[in-house]
Amino acid sequence: MAYLICENCNHYWQIKSEEEFWVFHTCDECGSPLLYVKNFNEYRKITKDVPESSRKTQNQGKADNYWRSWRGGHLILIAGALMAAAGILLTVTGTAWGITPVLLGIIFMALSVPLGRASARRGIGWKKGYEDELIVTNCLRRLPQGYHILNNVQLPGADGHMDHVVVGPTGVYVIETKSYSGNYIVKGDRWFLNDELRKEEVRSPSIQAKRNAAAIKEFLETRDIYVSWVNAVVAFLSASCTIMEEDEHCRILKPCQVPEHIMESRLMLGESKVKRIVDALRKHASEVW
Ligand SMILES: [Zn+2]
Repeated sequence: MAYLICENCNHYWQIKSEEEFWVFHTCDECGSPLLYVKNFNEYRKITKDVPESSRKTQNQGKADNYWRSWRGGHLILIAGALMAAAGILLTVTGTAWGITPVLLGIIFMALSVPLGRASARRGIGWKKGYEDELIVTNCLRRLPQGYHILNNVQLPGADGHMDHVVVGPTGVYVIETKSYSGNYIVKGDRWFLNDELRKEEVRSPSIQAKRNAAAIKEFLETRDIYVSWVNAVVAFLSASCTIMEEDEHCRILKPCQVPEHIMESRLMLGESKVKRIVDALRKHASEVW
């Protein structure tokens, strides 16, 4: 019997199947991401606690920025409305220039609407990205001691960031998180949206993950650390993804399957090498678990 646990409220729910995790991955009461465990014994073994020194991830920071500008938009809207109301009052009481604040108020209100809307839309997008990262991090916490989770890794000179990098006895893993909605078909490293209305090829998370894996390997080489390969994984947060043809260099898995996949692999790194890799990547990550 599997469980979903909210560590913030100290609540837990028993679930029948892993599928239920797709419906409830955040706590109803506090909104924290839930931890999925196969049994309580597994929960007792989880040693990875939230690091105190965690910096905001890129997604979280951007979401916060957009909410700030959304609030700004609302303030302008309110200011515009007050100005227009005051202007109307002045006009009614016979003040000749009363029309000026009315016009200014209307302009303010008109400008604030698209600003507020665009920020809310983008804010929701980034917030979703941040929640997805938390869900995957919570799944990765089931990895036993000896595995290290580095979140939001931004290598020097790279434009994008990597959602998660895991380093442990079975090697180095780059995990790209994707939560597309709709039905997807994957053929090798090509991804196709296959909905009733839209059928098209989309940007491939597999190619992104493989590119990131290559970037990590290269970065480590510049630090004189050589690994034979870095594994690429796409953690896919949506139920509807059909894999027609497996890409042997990039696995596509549900987030809660990722720890098993990592642990099942062949041992390839000794403790001291794991430490050297983590130390080289540490300062480029916003969080290390
Ligand atoms: Zn909660």
